Amino acid sequence: MKKLEQLYEGKAKKVFAMDDPNVVLVSYKDDATAFNGLKKGTIEGKGAINNRMTNFLMQMLEKNGVPTHFIEEISDRETLVKKVNIVPLEVIVRNVAAGSLSKRLGLPEGTPLRRTVLEYCYKNDELGDPMVNEYHIAAMGWADDQTMKDIAAYALKINDLLIQYFRPLNIDLIDFKLEFGITNDGQLVLADEISPDTCRFWDSRTHEKLDKDRFRRDLGGVEEAYQEISHRLLGE
Ligand code: UDP
Repeated sequence: MKKLEQLYEGKAKKVFAMDDPNVVLVSYKDDATAFNGLKKGTIEGKGAINNRMTNFLMQMLEKNGVPTHFIEEISDRETLVKKVNIVPLEVIVRNVAAGSLSKRLGLPEGTPLRRTVLEYCYKNDELGDPMVNEYHIAAMGWADDQTMKDIAAYALKINDLLIQYFRPLNIDLIDFKLEFGITNDGQLVLADEISPDTCRFWDSRTHEKLDKDRFRRDLGGVEEAYQEISHRLLGE
C-alpha cells in the first residue's frame, strides 16, 4: 500500500490518504495543546507513546468484542486505520469527579461518582466543543438513535474493560474521552486514540496525576508521566 497526500492536520496527529480508499494513515506528533489551542507546547516522545498505547489498548478491546478502526502499526508513530466518517461528538466517560465536571458542579476533584457518567460534546473548535444531550444530537442529525444506543453501550463496556486492565497496574481511570466513526461499509467503530492525552490516570496508591493534566496545569514531570504509563502498560 502507498502513502498519498496529507488529508488533515489536527492538534496531535496528521492523517494521510492511502491508495486504498478504505484505509488512512495516522501519524502521531509530539505537539500538545490545551484549553482549545490556547496553550501550546511539545511533549518529547509523546507521539510514539500515544501511538503504541492506543494500538495496544484497541487490540485488547477488539479481543473483547469492541470494534475499532485499528488495522496495523507500521512504525513508532504511524498506524494504518480504517477510513471513517467521525461522528462529531466527544464521548466523555467519568468514574470520579475531575476537570470540567468538578468545576461545573462544585465537586472536589477525586469525589467518587455513584455511577458512571456519560457526557457528549459537539466537536467544534470555534464553539469550544459545547456539551450537548441526546435531544440536541437527534435534532441536529449528528447521529441516529440506534447509533447513540450503540455508542453508549460501547462506551460503558470500554470503561469496564479499561478499569479492569489498569487496576493491577495501580492506575485509576478517572475519566476519558472517546470518538467513534462509521466505516465505508457502515460499521460503527471506536476511532481516535486512548492515551494520557485523552484519559485521566491517577496512581492508585499516591494519587499522583499521570496524564496531560501535568501539562495543562504546569505541574512538571510531563514526559516522565507519559513514560511511567507507557512503562506500566507496555513494559517500555
Ligand atoms: N478530554 C479530551 N479532549 C477534550 C476534552 C476532554 O481528551 O477536548 C478528556 C480529558 O483528558 C479528560 C476527559 O476528557 O480525561 C474529561 O475532560 P473534562 O471535560 O474534565 O475537560 P478538561 O478538564 O480536560 O478541560
